[in-house]
Amino acid sequence: MAAERITVSDQGVLHVPDEPIVPFIEGDGTGVDIWPAAQSVLDAAAAKYGKTIAWKEVLAGQKAFDETGNWLPDETIEAFRHYLIGIKGPLTTPVGGGIRSLNVAIRKILDLYVCLRPVRWFEGVPSPVKHPEKVDMVIFRENTEDVYAGLELQEGTAEAKRLIELLHDEFGWTIRPDSGIGIKPVSETGSKRLVRAALNYAVQRKRSSVTMVHKGNIQKYTEGAFRSWGYELVREEFSDVAVGWDDCGGDPAGKILVKDAIADITLQQVLTRPEEFDVIATTNLNGDYLSDALAAQVGGIGIAPGANINYVTGHGVFEATHGTAPKYAGQDKVNPGSLLLSGVLMFEHLGWQPAADDIVTALEATIADRIVTYDFARQMEGATQVKTSEFAAAIIDRL
Ligand code: NAP
Repeated sequence: MAAERITVSDQGVLHVPDEPIVPFIEGDGTGVDIWPAAQSVLDAAAAKYGKTIAWKEVLAGQKAFDETGNWLPDETIEAFRHYLIGIKGPLTTPVGGGIRSLNVAIRKILDLYVCLRPVRWFEGVPSPVKHPEKVDMVIFRENTEDVYAGLELQEGTAEAKRLIELLHDEFGWTIRPDSGIGIKPVSETGSKRLVRAALNYAVQRKRSSVTMVHKGNIQKYTEGAFRSWGYELVREEFSDVAVGWDDCGGDPAGKILVKDAIADITLQQVLTRPEEFDVIATTNLNGDYLSDALAAQVGGIGIAPGANINYVTGHGVFEATHGTAPKYAGQDKVNPGSLLLSGVLMFEHLGWQPAADDIVTALEATIADRIVTYDFARQMEGATQVKTSEFAAAIIDRL
């Protein structure tokens, strides 16, 4: 078997060989601990199904800077571009000057417009809520627009002053002269491709509903428009499989129900009636808050996986959602769960569902046996605290 690259059809369908070449970034800080652990479990699960991953290390972050003088070498971006699918550990954000965030840079360059964050509870994981098992949601967060577009002017600069004057002269808007200014673009293109991705996912995974979370009651032409474009898309492209709430009175008759909810109320309702939420499609800022709030609800802040995907070009970067936790670096101590579950998400994306399911089952069995890393051990009674590498070995034993 020869290692090959993953390719994509004009329709955005991935062709995945049995030995795909997958670039990985080990990650800074605790990356040296969690990457080998996660990789060993992924390799073992893939091997059960006759698959091998030809891992190809590429550099970013501190390791890249130390070896090449560049935080994000062009070869790394080229590798992600060429091989389509990659995975990464956490990266140090360089302080002062240069690239603001390596993660943001990678997302921008490859136009990874979906930030995918599945949130579910794993039996035995300590959680602050009574019924964490009711949480099983998949968040599609728009990744390129909104107040995160990076269109900001600092208070007191000539540019900010000019824009304030222009807005006054052209639109009659009065803005305090000592204001910083940020622009919030939300486009029909950006909104529809995000909601389309969420709907396609719901169809493929047989999920029952898609909720569009927005703040359209206040921000009518950005957040409100996101909602309207979403419903429009359902009618235009998904009427055979999905229906909007207003078009069915809340009774979808076997189709996927598409509904919407205001962001602040959503943050209450995901706590009080989580079973009513399934797939969530939302704008960038809302998605940021919601992802972490939901991860906390299932005790998963340290094990929450994530992915950034462009479903049209086929590009996807799967990643640990926590940072580099530098104080624990090299101690073989932290939980590799976030990076490992990102690998599971990658397997699912590649169509390797049985191997993905096996890892989840083995992870659950390990936690059920109370074999856990320090972060869970300190919240669990009768736990056996193990090192990062031992935790991975225990999962492999249960595969
Ligand atoms: P952090 O690295 O996420 O660490 C915050 C705390 O989260 C840790 O002290 C630890 O909690 C817990 N934690 C993190 N990873 C864990 C793991 N694998 N297992 C168990 N617990 C874990 O956040 P930070 O200290 O604010 O940021 C450090 C660096 O990471 C910064 O340079 C930041 O820019 C970068 N960062 C990168 C990413 C990314 O690449 N995606 C994301 C966020 C931050 P306890 O102290 O309670 O044990």
